[in-house]
Parts: sequence; C-alpha cells; structure tokens
Amino acid sequence: MARYIFVTGGVVSSLGKGLASASLAYLLKSQGYKVRIRKMDPYLNVDPGTMSPFQHGEVFVTDDGAETDLDLGHYERFTNISSKKSDNITTGKIYSDIIYKERKGSYLGKTVQVIPHVTDRIKEFIKKDITNEDFVICEIGGTVGDIESLPFLEAIRQFSNDNGKNKTLFIHLTLVPYMKASDEIKTKPTQHSVKELRSLGIQPDIVICRSERSIPLDQRKKISLFCNVPINNVIETVDVKTIYEAPISFFNEKLDKQVLKHFKINSKRAANLKPWKKITDIILKTKTQINIAIIGKYVNLKDAYKSLDEALTHGGIDNKVKVNLVRIESDNLKPNKIKEKLKNVSGVLIPGGFGKRGTEGKISAIKYARQNKIPFLGICFGMQMAMVEFARNVLKITNAGSTEFNNNCYPIIGLINEWNKNGKIIKGTDKNLGGTMRLGLYKAKLKKNTKIKKIYKSQSIQERHRHRYEVNINLKDKFEKKGLIFSGISPDNKLPEIIELKDHPWFIGVQFHPEFKSRPLSPHPLFSSFIKAAKIYK
Ligand code: GLN
Repeated sequence: MARYIFVTGGVVSSLGKGLASASLAYLLKSQGYKVRIRKMDPYLNVDPGTMSPFQHGEVFVTDDGAETDLDLGHYERFTNISSKKSDNITTGKIYSDIIYKERKGSYLGKTVQVIPHVTDRIKEFIKKDITNEDFVICEIGGTVGDIESLPFLEAIRQFSNDNGKNKTLFIHLTLVPYMKASDEIKTKPTQHSVKELRSLGIQPDIVICRSERSIPLDQRKKISLFCNVPINNVIETVDVKTIYEAPISFFNEKLDKQVLKHFKINSKRAANLKPWKKITDIILKTKTQINIAIIGKYVNLKDAYKSLDEALTHGGIDNKVKVNLVRIESDNLKPNKIKEKLKNVSGVLIPGGFGKRGTEGKISAIKYARQNKIPFLGICFGMQMAMVEFARNVLKITNAGSTEFNNNCYPIIGLINEWNKNGKIIKGTDKNLGGTMRLGLYKAKLKKNTKIKKIYKSQSIQERHRHRYEVNINLKDKFEKKGLIFSGISPDNKLPEIIELKDHPWFIGVQFHPEFKSRPLSPHPLFSSFIKAAKIYK
C-alpha cells in the first residue's frame, strides 16, 4: 500500500503549502520513489472553472481536461508528473456526487450525513486511481480552524486510523512571525494552531515553520515541547530568494529525511539538487534583462496568470536573461497611450481571457506590435483578438469580431458546438457553463516551412485547451493571401490551432495554453523562442 502524507496549514493562508508539498514530492521522486500529489479544496464550487481569477487565481488545466486549483501547476512544475482529473476534489464535487447518488436511491433507507457519507467519499478520493505509488501527498486547502475544512480533517483523521500510523504522516505548516519592535520570534500562533488540530484528533508528525528569519534553537525547542513534536521534526522554512530554491532549502532542513525516517525506509539514491542549483544560479546572477508586456484584465492580481508568469521565467532561464513582466491593464488602454506604454518593452503577450471588457485595448496593442514588428505571442483569447485585429485592419472587415461579445459582428471567432476527440464528437455547450469548454489535450498538425514547425521541431503536437470559441476556418484563404498563415490545425482540418505572420520577425498566436506544460527544468519551446526573439529585438 502507498504511504499517505497529509499537508495542512495553520495561522494564515498563503504560507506556501503547495510549494512545500511540491518540493517534498520532488525530493522523494528524485530519491527513487513513485509519487503522486493531490489537492482537496474546501469551497462549494464543483471545480474552480467558473470562478473569476480575482477570486481564486489561475485555473490550471490538466492533460485530461480537468479545471483545477493552481497548486496543481506547482506540483507539475516541480515534479514533472502530469496531474489528472482525479488529483483535485472540492467540497462542491463531493456533495454533488452524494446528492446525485441520494436521488438515485443509492442510500435508500438511510439518513445521509457528513459522517460517514461525506468523510467516506473523501477517503475514497484519497485512494482513488492509486496503483503502485510509493507516496501520495494530499494537500488540504484552507487553514485549520476554518469551518469548511472540518470534514476533510475528520476524513484524514479516520484515514490514519483505518490504515495505520506507519502508512500515514501529518505535516502541519504554520507561520512563525518575527516581531520587529521586540526583536523576537513568536511561537504562540503555531502552538495555538497545533492545539486546534489536536482538538480535532490530529497530532502532526512534522511541523514546518514558515519564518522571515531563522528560528533559534530555543524557539524550536519550545515548538517541539508545546506541539508534542520531536525537535528534529520542527522544520523551518525561511523565505527563499526564488521559488526554485525551495527544494534545496527543504533538503537542507532534512524534510525528506524526516519523512523517510517516519516511514522507516531509506532513500534509494541520493537526491539530485543539481538542476535546481543551476537554475537558481542563473536566476540570481543573470544581469541581462528584458521587459515583456502582459496585457490583460487580471494583471493586478498576482496569481491570475501564474503558469504564464512561470513559463516566461522558464523562457528567460533558457536564454539566460531576466524577464521583467510589465503588467498592463487592458481596460483603459487607449490607442494614443500604447506607444508610451510599450516604450521599453521587447515583447507583447496577450493571455487567455473571457468577455468583452478590455478587448479594444488588447486589439490596439496587437496592431501596434504587428506594425512595429515587436515580438508578439497571443494565447487563446490573445490569438482570437489577433485574428480580429488583422481582419479589421488588413482584410478591412470593419465589423470583424467574436460572437463571444458581439452577436452582430462579422464572426471571425465563433461558437463551434462540436469537435472531435479520439473519434468521438464532443458537444461544445449545453446550458451549463461549468466544464463544458474544449478542455485538455488536443492534437495539432504543424505546417511545413513555418516558424512554429521550427520551434517545435515536430510535425504534430499536443497542447492543453480551455476555450469555447474557435477561429472561423472559412476565412483561411483570405487571411493567408495577406500573409497571416494558419500554421497549425486540428487533425480533421476544421479547427485552426496556430497562426503566424509571414512578414514579421515573431508574431504567433496559439489557440491553446502552452504555459501549462512549461517546466523550469524543461522550458516550453514556444516561450524559449519568444524570449529569444525579444532578446534580439532589444
Ligand atoms: N473566451 C475565449 C473562448 O472561450 C478564450 C478562452 C481563453 O482564452 N482561455 O474561446
């Protein structure tokens, strides 16, 4: 049976539970173990797909088309293991499954309750789809003490009882604040958080203490004593200069060693930290810098384009340049302000997006990048807007638009209700908005003698999608005659997947989200090439 590691958080949110879980997963994997990471989210949405990025940050998409929490992106980037639908669950999903079963009569005669029905369903999720994994790391979203996370904590408590201490481990991540006025490190919030956890029947085996400064031995002893955790299992995590240092930092703090010790097993081989040291070095020492503009609706929220920010950084690592992200709000971006805004920028990126707000600003910026030969990458909505811009200003279709936000336009972008996946017709939309987009991996064929083919060095690719609207294939010839090439297309020749401009140093639009597949240790070729072009432009 696999060994299960449960990671909870205390005191405040955003302590980096995801990063700690991902780093631990990397360390265990690199020591020869098969690892899986999953996330349980306590909110009532069935998945984060319908949430605004302002609420929840980016929606991460898996190969198999699940719309998930952005922490799954961290997991993939650190472990290079692709997540699956079965790796993320929410309270909403659990309840909707249970209520569905109840209506069918599956619980006939019984009262359906949190304990045991909800907790049983959570325990089922924890074990589902696990085959020969050595470790399953389960992160529980939210903070201990929240009402919403109680059923999850109860379920993991039961899980440990059902499966034995030697098969389960509880890690609790807390904040150990530094008080400037008294020049002291405070352990009380950690003590209280662990007390709360223990009152729910969970004794953490390891406490990870997030702190601004190193925690002196005396304070560690105090945490050990009050939290009932052996001193060696009080692990500190001091703020790192770049997130890529996290696996090194956790290794130095012996987190992996203590985990293996708990399970009474040895590492199969030494952990390989070289790649992380190498990229940390590049990031911290690189002097050359370039500015890339990201023009979108959610630029003021740090996590809204998490994978994208990461992928650009990866492209920078590959080209040994530091990529500064210039975030430009598309809403009030007037055409006469664009020149000024893009003055010091070596590349323009328009990310995915939904709805009308901010579209005209994006279109004006695309026009500027096209005419001034600034490297441009349009992702999903960004590609769609690049098509609209070209149609309006080059093909002179003045009312060109997308039916997503204008029903009376000439539909360059429109709703396609059906598409093929593995020979099956998938219905595009029904009345529901949740989970009904073209989601997950789809193939594209790349055209000969195009930039994209040189970049991917392959005839066919597979990338992750998340959109409802498609480029209207009927205008292909018109576009191509004027120099906008459909350089990637779905295998059935129906859905344009990639476009590029012939007479431009680097102008590419993709209908999919390449950022979801970029990893720090293997940067995505599209981002590497984009940053390379931006470096040349500079
Ligand atoms: N709103 C567009 C669509 O649904 C683009 C989505 C996106 O950028 N991910 O097709």
